Amino acid sequence: MIILVSNDDGIQAKGIHLVVEALQGLGDIYVSAPDQEQSAASHSITVNQPLRAKEVEFPGAVKAWAVSGRPADCVKLAIEHNFIEKPDLVISGINHGANIGTDILYSGTVGAAMEGYLCGSSAIAISQCSKKVSMDYGAAFLRRLVEGWLEQADRPRIMLNVNIPPLPAEEIKGFRWTRQGWRWYKNAFEERQDPHGKPYYWLHGDAYDADDDGDTDCSAIAAGYVSVTPLHNDMCDHAVLARLSANSFIKE
Ligand code: MN
Repeated sequence: MIILVSNDDGIQAKGIHLVVEALQGLGDIYVSAPDQEQSAASHSITVNQPLRAKEVEFPGAVKAWAVSGRPADCVKLAIEHNFIEKPDLVISGINHGANIGTDILYSGTVGAAMEGYLCGSSAIAISQCSKKVSMDYGAAFLRRLVEGWLEQADRPRIMLNVNIPPLPAEEIKGFRWTRQGWRWYKNAFEERQDPHGKPYYWLHGDAYDADDDGDTDCSAIAAGYVSVTPLHNDMCDHAVLARLSANSFIKE
């Protein structure tokens, strides 16, 4: 099995090293990750600048590249420029910080995994919701997840978004399969003044979960469970499509 590992916190981040360590023995592991932090890069790609890919030493990986682009660039370049054979699995993370609810739309961690999925591989994005808690539980959970996926006789191509609650390992209650919730931020911008007296703005809000029926990623995390949400690239609202196809408001 060929596994490609990426992230958005940069190739030096602890989380990506833990992923490579945790998956030892499950396949040939390659790393292609940003040469600096690219959090909140979403699924953006680089089109007006060249990309550089520097081969670097990475313990536990067959080969590794530090790429001067976005998380999705790293995955796309490695696969589409044949740095490696097509991976069976692309893993992105472990991110420092949550990627639940609407965070998913902004997340570079999810963007890298989504690029792997678009390129035809199965993909997993994994995040630890607190920067203050050890990522060891998340790394061990990832290994269990990948082993379980490998044991399936007929593996469907899937993309999963995994979040580990902000708790010490002994307080985590287990895991839940979840749907994507709705997370929003209060006081999203803080206004400050620069030395010339002009205002500037810094994005820094307090998260709140606006949709909490109990079956979302946000509610699983709040209840102390690991959240596993299947995602796909289809952003079409199929229920609205069916309604509009039957009763269009655009005149012929
Ligand atoms: Mn990040």
